[in-house]
Amino acid sequence: MSAGKPVISLTDITKSYQMGDVHFPVLHGITFTVDAGEFVSVLGPSGSGKSTLMNIIGCLDVPDSGTYMLGRRTVKGLPERTMARIRNRDIGFVFQSFQLLPRISAIENVMLPLIYAKVPRAQRYARAMAELERVGLADKANNLPRQLSGGQQQRVAIARALVTRPRILLADEPTGALDRATGAQIMDIFQSLNKEGITVVMITHDQKVASFASRIVYILDGKLYSKEEYAALELSGEG
Ligand code: ADP
Ligand code: MG
Repeated sequence: MSAGKPVISLTDITKSYQMGDVHFPVLHGITFTVDAGEFVSVLGPSGSGKSTLMNIIGCLDVPDSGTYMLGRRTVKGLPERTMARIRNRDIGFVFQSFQLLPRISAIENVMLPLIYAKVPRAQRYARAMAELERVGLADKANNLPRQLSGGQQQRVAIARALVTRPRILLADEPTGALDRATGAQIMDIFQSLNKEGITVVMITHDQKVASFASRIVYILDGKLYSKEEYAALELSGEG
């Protein structure tokens, strides 16, 4: 996909959670476009709907209404196996808590998505090792997650996210469990991946982390604002 074309396009997306009889609206008409090759962060406080939005973008959940286009495909009413395939091949995920399987080594964690993608066994090791090299962890390939620091675990998770060569990397508070210096190293990796052409969407509550992106959008109470809109909101005293 060439740079500048929308890869993610949300129009009027709404989402509520149902808890018993209580209908709890979380996203109130989100319109958001990300172009190929962008590095965008979505910045907002806890509870503003960031993870709900990320789950929709990542095809982990579906909106109540609105339109979601991923590339040229409308994400609506797709069978679960198609959603799973999108999650496996088109989007790489990075989470605050790394989400590595604890009982298998770093390289086995990185190889897992290739098993789901039905990549032949003979290619899995080399591809996973290449991703570990890219994040500077080839020498830790056989370590278990608990034998790695937090920053190293997150780098393994990034390698796992990229091993199927997705064009989009989605990250939900990727530095939330890391100290600031280690978090900055993770942001360096994101910036270099973005330079290689991967579209990065990162969700965070941390202004400093958000500023590593080339564009910031703001989320407040389930509504998205551009920088200018958000500044106007703060001036008007509503922010
Ligand atoms: P953020 O990631 O910005 O902290 P979330 O998207 O996780 O925000 O949550 C937004 C709101 O939706 C919160 O008030 C949260 O309690 C609520 N919420 C999130 N997930 C669920 C769920 N599965 N069921 C009910 N309420 C939820
Ligand atoms: Mg969250």
